Amino acid sequence: MSFWVFYFFKYFIKSRFLNLKEPILGGFKITHRCNLKCYHCPFWERDEGELGYNQVIDMLNKMHNIGVRILIFEGGEPFIWKEGDKTLIDVINYAKRKFFSFQ
Ligand code: SF4
Repeated sequence: MSFWVFYFFKYFIKSRFLNLKEPILGGFKITHRCNLKCYHCPFWERDEGELGYNQVIDMLNKMHNIGVRILIFEGGEPFIWKEGDKTLIDVINYAKRKFFSFQ
């Protein structure tokens, strides 16, 4: 049996019968920047700075530690995030080792 099947079964038992509420799905806005700048969107105008690569990895580790196993990269446009030579591809390669699924 795959490890993730066991993990989800354990999650089901804990949440259904022990009433322990832990997240299993997490969304991560890796950047608010976006190349489309839609009129109705509140995100692309935010000027809050961005996390660097090490901070992004730290955030992924924190999400993993609290139980998240399904990760969704959000934005802004996640594909325009970068720091130096690090891009979303590097973040995804790290996320592959931590999460069962991501998009
Ligand atoms: S994040 Fe989505 S809604 Fe916002 S500007 Fe970009 S494409 Fe448009």
